[in-house]
Amino acid sequence: MVFQKLTKGIMKIIIPEKPRENLDQTLRNTEPKIASILDKSLNNYDLNINEIKKLFETKNLNALIATADELRFRQTGNIVTYVVTRNINFTNVCIKRCGFCAFSREYKESEGYFIPISEIVTRAKEAQKLGATEICIQAGLAPKMKGNLYNEICLAVKKALPKLHIHAFSPEEVLYGSLRSKQNIYDYLSNLKDSGVDSLPGTSAEILVQKIRDKISPGRISVEKWKEVITTAHKLKIPTTSTIMFGHIESSLDRAIHLNLIKNIQIKTNGFTEFVPLNFIRSEAPMFTKKIIKMIPRSNKTDSIKMHSISRIVLGNHIPNLQVSWVKEGFEFAQTLLKCGVNDLGGTLINESISTSAGSKYGQLASPKILKKLARNSGKIPAERYTTYKLKKIFKDPEKDTLHPLDNLTSSTQKQLGSYFEMIKSSKFKYEFNANKNVS
Ligand code: SF4
Repeated sequence: MVFQKLTKGIMKIIIPEKPRENLDQTLRNTEPKIASILDKSLNNYDLNINEIKKLFETKNLNALIATADELRFRQTGNIVTYVVTRNINFTNVCIKRCGFCAFSREYKESEGYFIPISEIVTRAKEAQKLGATEICIQAGLAPKMKGNLYNEICLAVKKALPKLHIHAFSPEEVLYGSLRSKQNIYDYLSNLKDSGVDSLPGTSAEILVQKIRDKISPGRISVEKWKEVITTAHKLKIPTTSTIMFGHIESSLDRAIHLNLIKNIQIKTNGFTEFVPLNFIRSEAPMFTKKIIKMIPRSNKTDSIKMHSISRIVLGNHIPNLQVSWVKEGFEFAQTLLKCGVNDLGGTLINESISTSAGSKYGQLASPKILKKLARNSGKIPAERYTTYKLKKIFKDPEKDTLHPLDNLTSSTQKQLGSYFEMIKSSKFKYEFNANKNVS
């Protein structure tokens, strides 16, 4: 890989088509202590925290990328996957005030909304009609929420759409539900599974180092509780994703501790379906706009290449699927990251709200046509998958592509699907009118 300096501070990144051919040469040109760590990972040995930290501190991106791409090829081949899914963030009203969160509102605020269960079911039906195999439900922690609200949502969706996969409720929400229903986490998750939840998002992880969490989100679910929810879900055979939110105040050591912890959980439970690095979007985050905490200075793109490459190097042997978030990185750069260890483009999302509220400018929907194009432009074969990574369809020949229902949405269907900005302005879903039946 070559970095060409264009103008002061701006680098154009040129990545060769087949970095694997250059791997040996690249490693020979790499400082020996980094080359030997990379060599260890290429020989399928796990790296320790100190070695992972050193990778985050190296300036040698070429070696990280070439190693990550080789491991990606060995572990997942040339298929790049995506899932057709719809996000339903049913309320933005939340009792917490995480410093990085631009999505949440207080219940009295005019922009607070609450989508009732009947409307969640309507949206799930629309999603399935448009070809979705999954809905992803996550939301704020509504004040005084009924302890069984999440169960009721799942039961209603499953009654209407028994085959639709429900990917729902972060560890923070599971903990809140268990507290509101006065159940321990095992019983609560067990009931949630019986109600229809199929998998959990492994969000609310941010950085799994308590002192960092205490600074960016005091009162957020603790590292110990996050681990308890995730490992209990795995014990109950509820798979989860795993994530990291990077690029705020965390150090290389904090990142290394986080990756190591995720790896160790996976070795014990094998319950993670994928790992997703989430690039922190600063522009609307309260801890940035209010200058509450000093952020680390960084080059966004270089840092993102590093995080995705190192995630593949550290975790790929145990969690073969590494996802890029197109919402955070944008389509063009997501395509670049497909050469840095990534093998999954995430979901179509349809109604992305959380990153949009934080200032992401990359939209709320990615059609299958766009995702296939990103994969092919990167020399890979696109495939639609289910939530669990079982492949639904491989699209080997572009000539044989047919249009997916999401590829040619009319403007009236798009309007009907709604947007985050319409939602916070609309009177129909105002929190004060809709939340009453769902609080105790
Ligand atoms: S991140 Fe979640 S828990 Fe924290 S304020 Fe936002 S919605 Fe609430």
